[in-house]
Order: sequence, then structure tokens, then C-alpha cells
Amino acid sequence: MPWLSPFPLELVACASPDDWAKLGPHQAMVPLPPHSGAFGDARDRHFHEGIDLYAPADTPVLAVEDGTVIGVTPFSGSSTRKDYWRDMEAVLVQGASGLIAYCEFSPFAALRPAMTVKAGTPIGKIYAAGYTFRKAADKHEDHTHHAFLHLELHAAHVRGPTKWDAGKPKPATLFDPTPLLLFKTKPR
Ligand SMILES: [Zn+2]
Repeated sequence: MPWLSPFPLELVACASPDDWAKLGPHQAMVPLPPHSGAFGDARDRHFHEGIDLYAPADTPVLAVEDGTVIGVTPFSGSSTRKDYWRDMEAVLVQGASGLIAYCEFSPFAALRPAMTVKAGTPIGKIYAAGYTFRKAADKHEDHTHHAFLHLELHAAHVRGPTKWDAGKPKPATLFDPTPLLLFKTKPR
């Protein structure tokens, strides 16, 4: 089953951060290489395990397919190895595609394991304008870092975000969600 847009917006494939300025008010960005938000982008210590879907601040985040909430787990911050980043959680939802991890957004506090979510159900929202993902301001930050949802797709038996370390092949249980997102680009 193709996915729905995770926003009430049309998804547009973009290969450059500069394309943000070309998007209309009802569009959101799906980054493709060489955009640094693309799936598999080479980072300092790892490859990008998901895709960063850029949308305006406060945009509702919707379930992309029917599923069951498996858990809400720390994704970054003090209890993870990504301690440079603010504390953020991942919402894990199992559905027909596998385990989807919705990360680096503001999930609704009412989400609980075993809850079912229908495709298109709001599960949270993009952070408000001015939110910074890092604990400390980085003087090298270029301020082109728009708000986004980090989305990962794993095999159905996986129970949390999996790392794809630098120099290693892609874990067999980690998948590129890009084709599922671009299969259907219109909002509901
Ligand atoms: Zn990301």
C-alpha cells in the first residue's frame, strides 16, 4: 500500500535546500540526493537512517498508513548517543510496510502502546518556529535548517531506530522510505 503524505500538504521532491523557496504554501519538501536530508546521506559518523521531510512550523504530522503504536522511545538527547541534540522522542508504529519511526517532531502526549492509528490520523506536529534541535547554538549553523519530520522505515520485527554506521553496509532491516512517499504526492 502506498503511503499518504505525513502532512496535509503536497509532497514535492527536491534535490537542493534552495528549492525550499520555490515551494508553494500547500507544499512540503521530500529531499533527494545530494540534499543532506535525503535517505542515506553520508554524515560524520553514520549514514542518514531516515529522510527529513521539511514542512512549515506547527504543521500537523499524520500517520502515513494504518498501524499500531508499538511505543514512544527516546531518539536523541541525554539518554542516547546523540547527546549533542535536544531530548526528542520517536513514535514507533507497526503497519503493513513494517516499523515506521516518526522522529524529531512534537508527538501528542496521549500516544500509548497498542493504540491503533488510521492513515491520516494526526499524531503530533512539526516544532514551532524558532525551535533549535541542538542543545548549544552552533556558530557554523547556516540557518537554512528548516523544521522537519525525520522518518525511518524498518523491517516489521525491529523495535526501535537502528544505526547505519559509517563504513558499514546498510542494515538489512533498514529501508529507504522515499519511493513510498513519492508514490502518492497529493494531500488527502
Ligand atoms: Zn534526519
